Amino acid sequence: MTAQTIKRVVIVGGGTAGWMAATALSKIMGGVLDITLIESDQIGTVGVGEATIPTLVNYNRLIGIDEQAFMAATKATFKLGIEFVNWKQKGESYIHSFGITGKDHWTAGFWHFWLRGLKEGIDYKFGDYCLELIAAEQSKFAHLPKLGLNYAYHLDATAYAGFLRKMAEEHGAKRVEGKITSVQQNGESGYVESVTLEGGKVIEGDLFVDCSGFRALLIEGALHTGYHDWTHWLPCDSAIAVQTEAVSDPIPYTKSIAHDSGWQWRIPLQHRVGNGLVFCSNYQSDQSAIDTLMSNIEGKPLVDPRVIKFRTGTRRKHWNKNVVAVGLSSGFIEPLESTSIHLIQRSIFRLMQMFPHTGIVQADIDEFNAQTSYEMEHIRDFIILHYHVTERRDTPFWRQCANMDIPDGLKHRIALFRDAGRVFRPNDQLFAENSWVQVMLGQGIMPGQYHPIADRMTDEELHNFLAHIRSNVEKTAMQLPSHNDYVQQYCKAT
Ligand code: FAD
Repeated sequence: MTAQTIKRVVIVGGGTAGWMAATALSKIMGGVLDITLIESDQIGTVGVGEATIPTLVNYNRLIGIDEQAFMAATKATFKLGIEFVNWKQKGESYIHSFGITGKDHWTAGFWHFWLRGLKEGIDYKFGDYCLELIAAEQSKFAHLPKLGLNYAYHLDATAYAGFLRKMAEEHGAKRVEGKITSVQQNGESGYVESVTLEGGKVIEGDLFVDCSGFRALLIEGALHTGYHDWTHWLPCDSAIAVQTEAVSDPIPYTKSIAHDSGWQWRIPLQHRVGNGLVFCSNYQSDQSAIDTLMSNIEGKPLVDPRVIKFRTGTRRKHWNKNVVAVGLSSGFIEPLESTSIHLIQRSIFRLMQMFPHTGIVQADIDEFNAQTSYEMEHIRDFIILHYHVTERRDTPFWRQCANMDIPDGLKHRIALFRDAGRVFRPNDQLFAENSWVQVMLGQGIMPGQYHPIADRMTDEELHNFLAHIRSNVEKTAMQLPSHNDYVQQYCKAT
């Protein structure tokens, strides 16, 4: 343990991770901490990361962001889920929505009743029992009373960082522009003591938050922490990104379209669409990927396509000595379920909960690392599921995904569901039962049996139970305004 009081926090990097960290720390702990953020205009940010999950709504609320002002500033739209096109089979699609589907019994989830319904000839889709999913399909949205619709945002990541910067600076965070050229460490402990910028300016700190993106300037560059490589499970290692003009009203969901060696994202904002192709360089060249993407976009490109290289995996430790890695510096899982910004927010909250005010303690470091690794591994397994459980065998890439070995925990989950439709959510994992069920069904796994509790209903009771849920969903969806009208009105009101 270092007995030193931790007061000077230096955040290295001003991308989404850096400014989310600066805003939360300055807003919540600004009075007791001295916060400096260093960013380099010359280097810039990764410039992608526009689809989110509902947890961002909580982050924004916790740090006191006004939603209307935020949506207007970031040209955001609402997001109710993700549509997966061509993932199970070419020509087929399903939506993983953020909502709850049907009504669970404590012994067995709703899908058991739905499965019995199928057997009885009530052959509505699983998604027909989910309001968020039907609203997404009908391109509708509204904030509803009580629990309402469960939603996230599509946003302009650069504008979001700018929005947060304003807030962080208002709460006392200091911004320093410049490129860090060297890092100074204590000769004995190896702790980072300061960083030096081009031109010679030295910035000292007690705790460093490494938000330097894929460069991982401190956690890897200085501390050589090491990396667990997950590319044997998630072989994509490249992306092409391009923004296009919008050609139609924004829809309230992300599209993920599988191609021969990866998949394409389509993220509709108010003023433009974010597009990209994630692919595996073993099977497709950069130029061929650019050609695939450019022939599958809908509007006029606003910028030239950009190639981004990555290595899927996680840092061996996310907190090492007095450096905490947040964002891309801490590891990367491809954006198939839009989880990176969520992981940023989780690390920031965890750091604040364990803030080493009176000195850094190894037990805190170990706990932080264990929790972060656990979360990342859970998300990793959920992403592998999409690739591995596919009926596609039409290209070498899909054959590799279908035939590859997968983590034991994931094998177990798939076996539980395939056999008897069982799904569990241990330790409050990010993806709840309904997410796993939607994706497993969507990718083509049908459980071999349903829970006998579903047989306790008479045919008529089951019929009425299912019809009642569907009719509530339909009626509520019908009353919702169009997503585009709602966004326009909502943002105009700021
Ligand atoms: P960056 O944005 O790269 O920022 C790094 C910062 O460090 C910059 O300010 C840079 O100037 C600074 N820096 C670096 N080196 C130095 C130096 N020497 N001196 C000074 N400053 C320095 N996430 C989602 O949640 N949803 C998505 O839809 C999504 N899509 C993605 C698509 C792709 C292809 C990729 C690669 C990522 C995606 N992500 C997504 C992840 C998301 O983009 C990142 O998690 C997020 O942008 C945070 O990045 P960052 O702040 O860690 O790094």
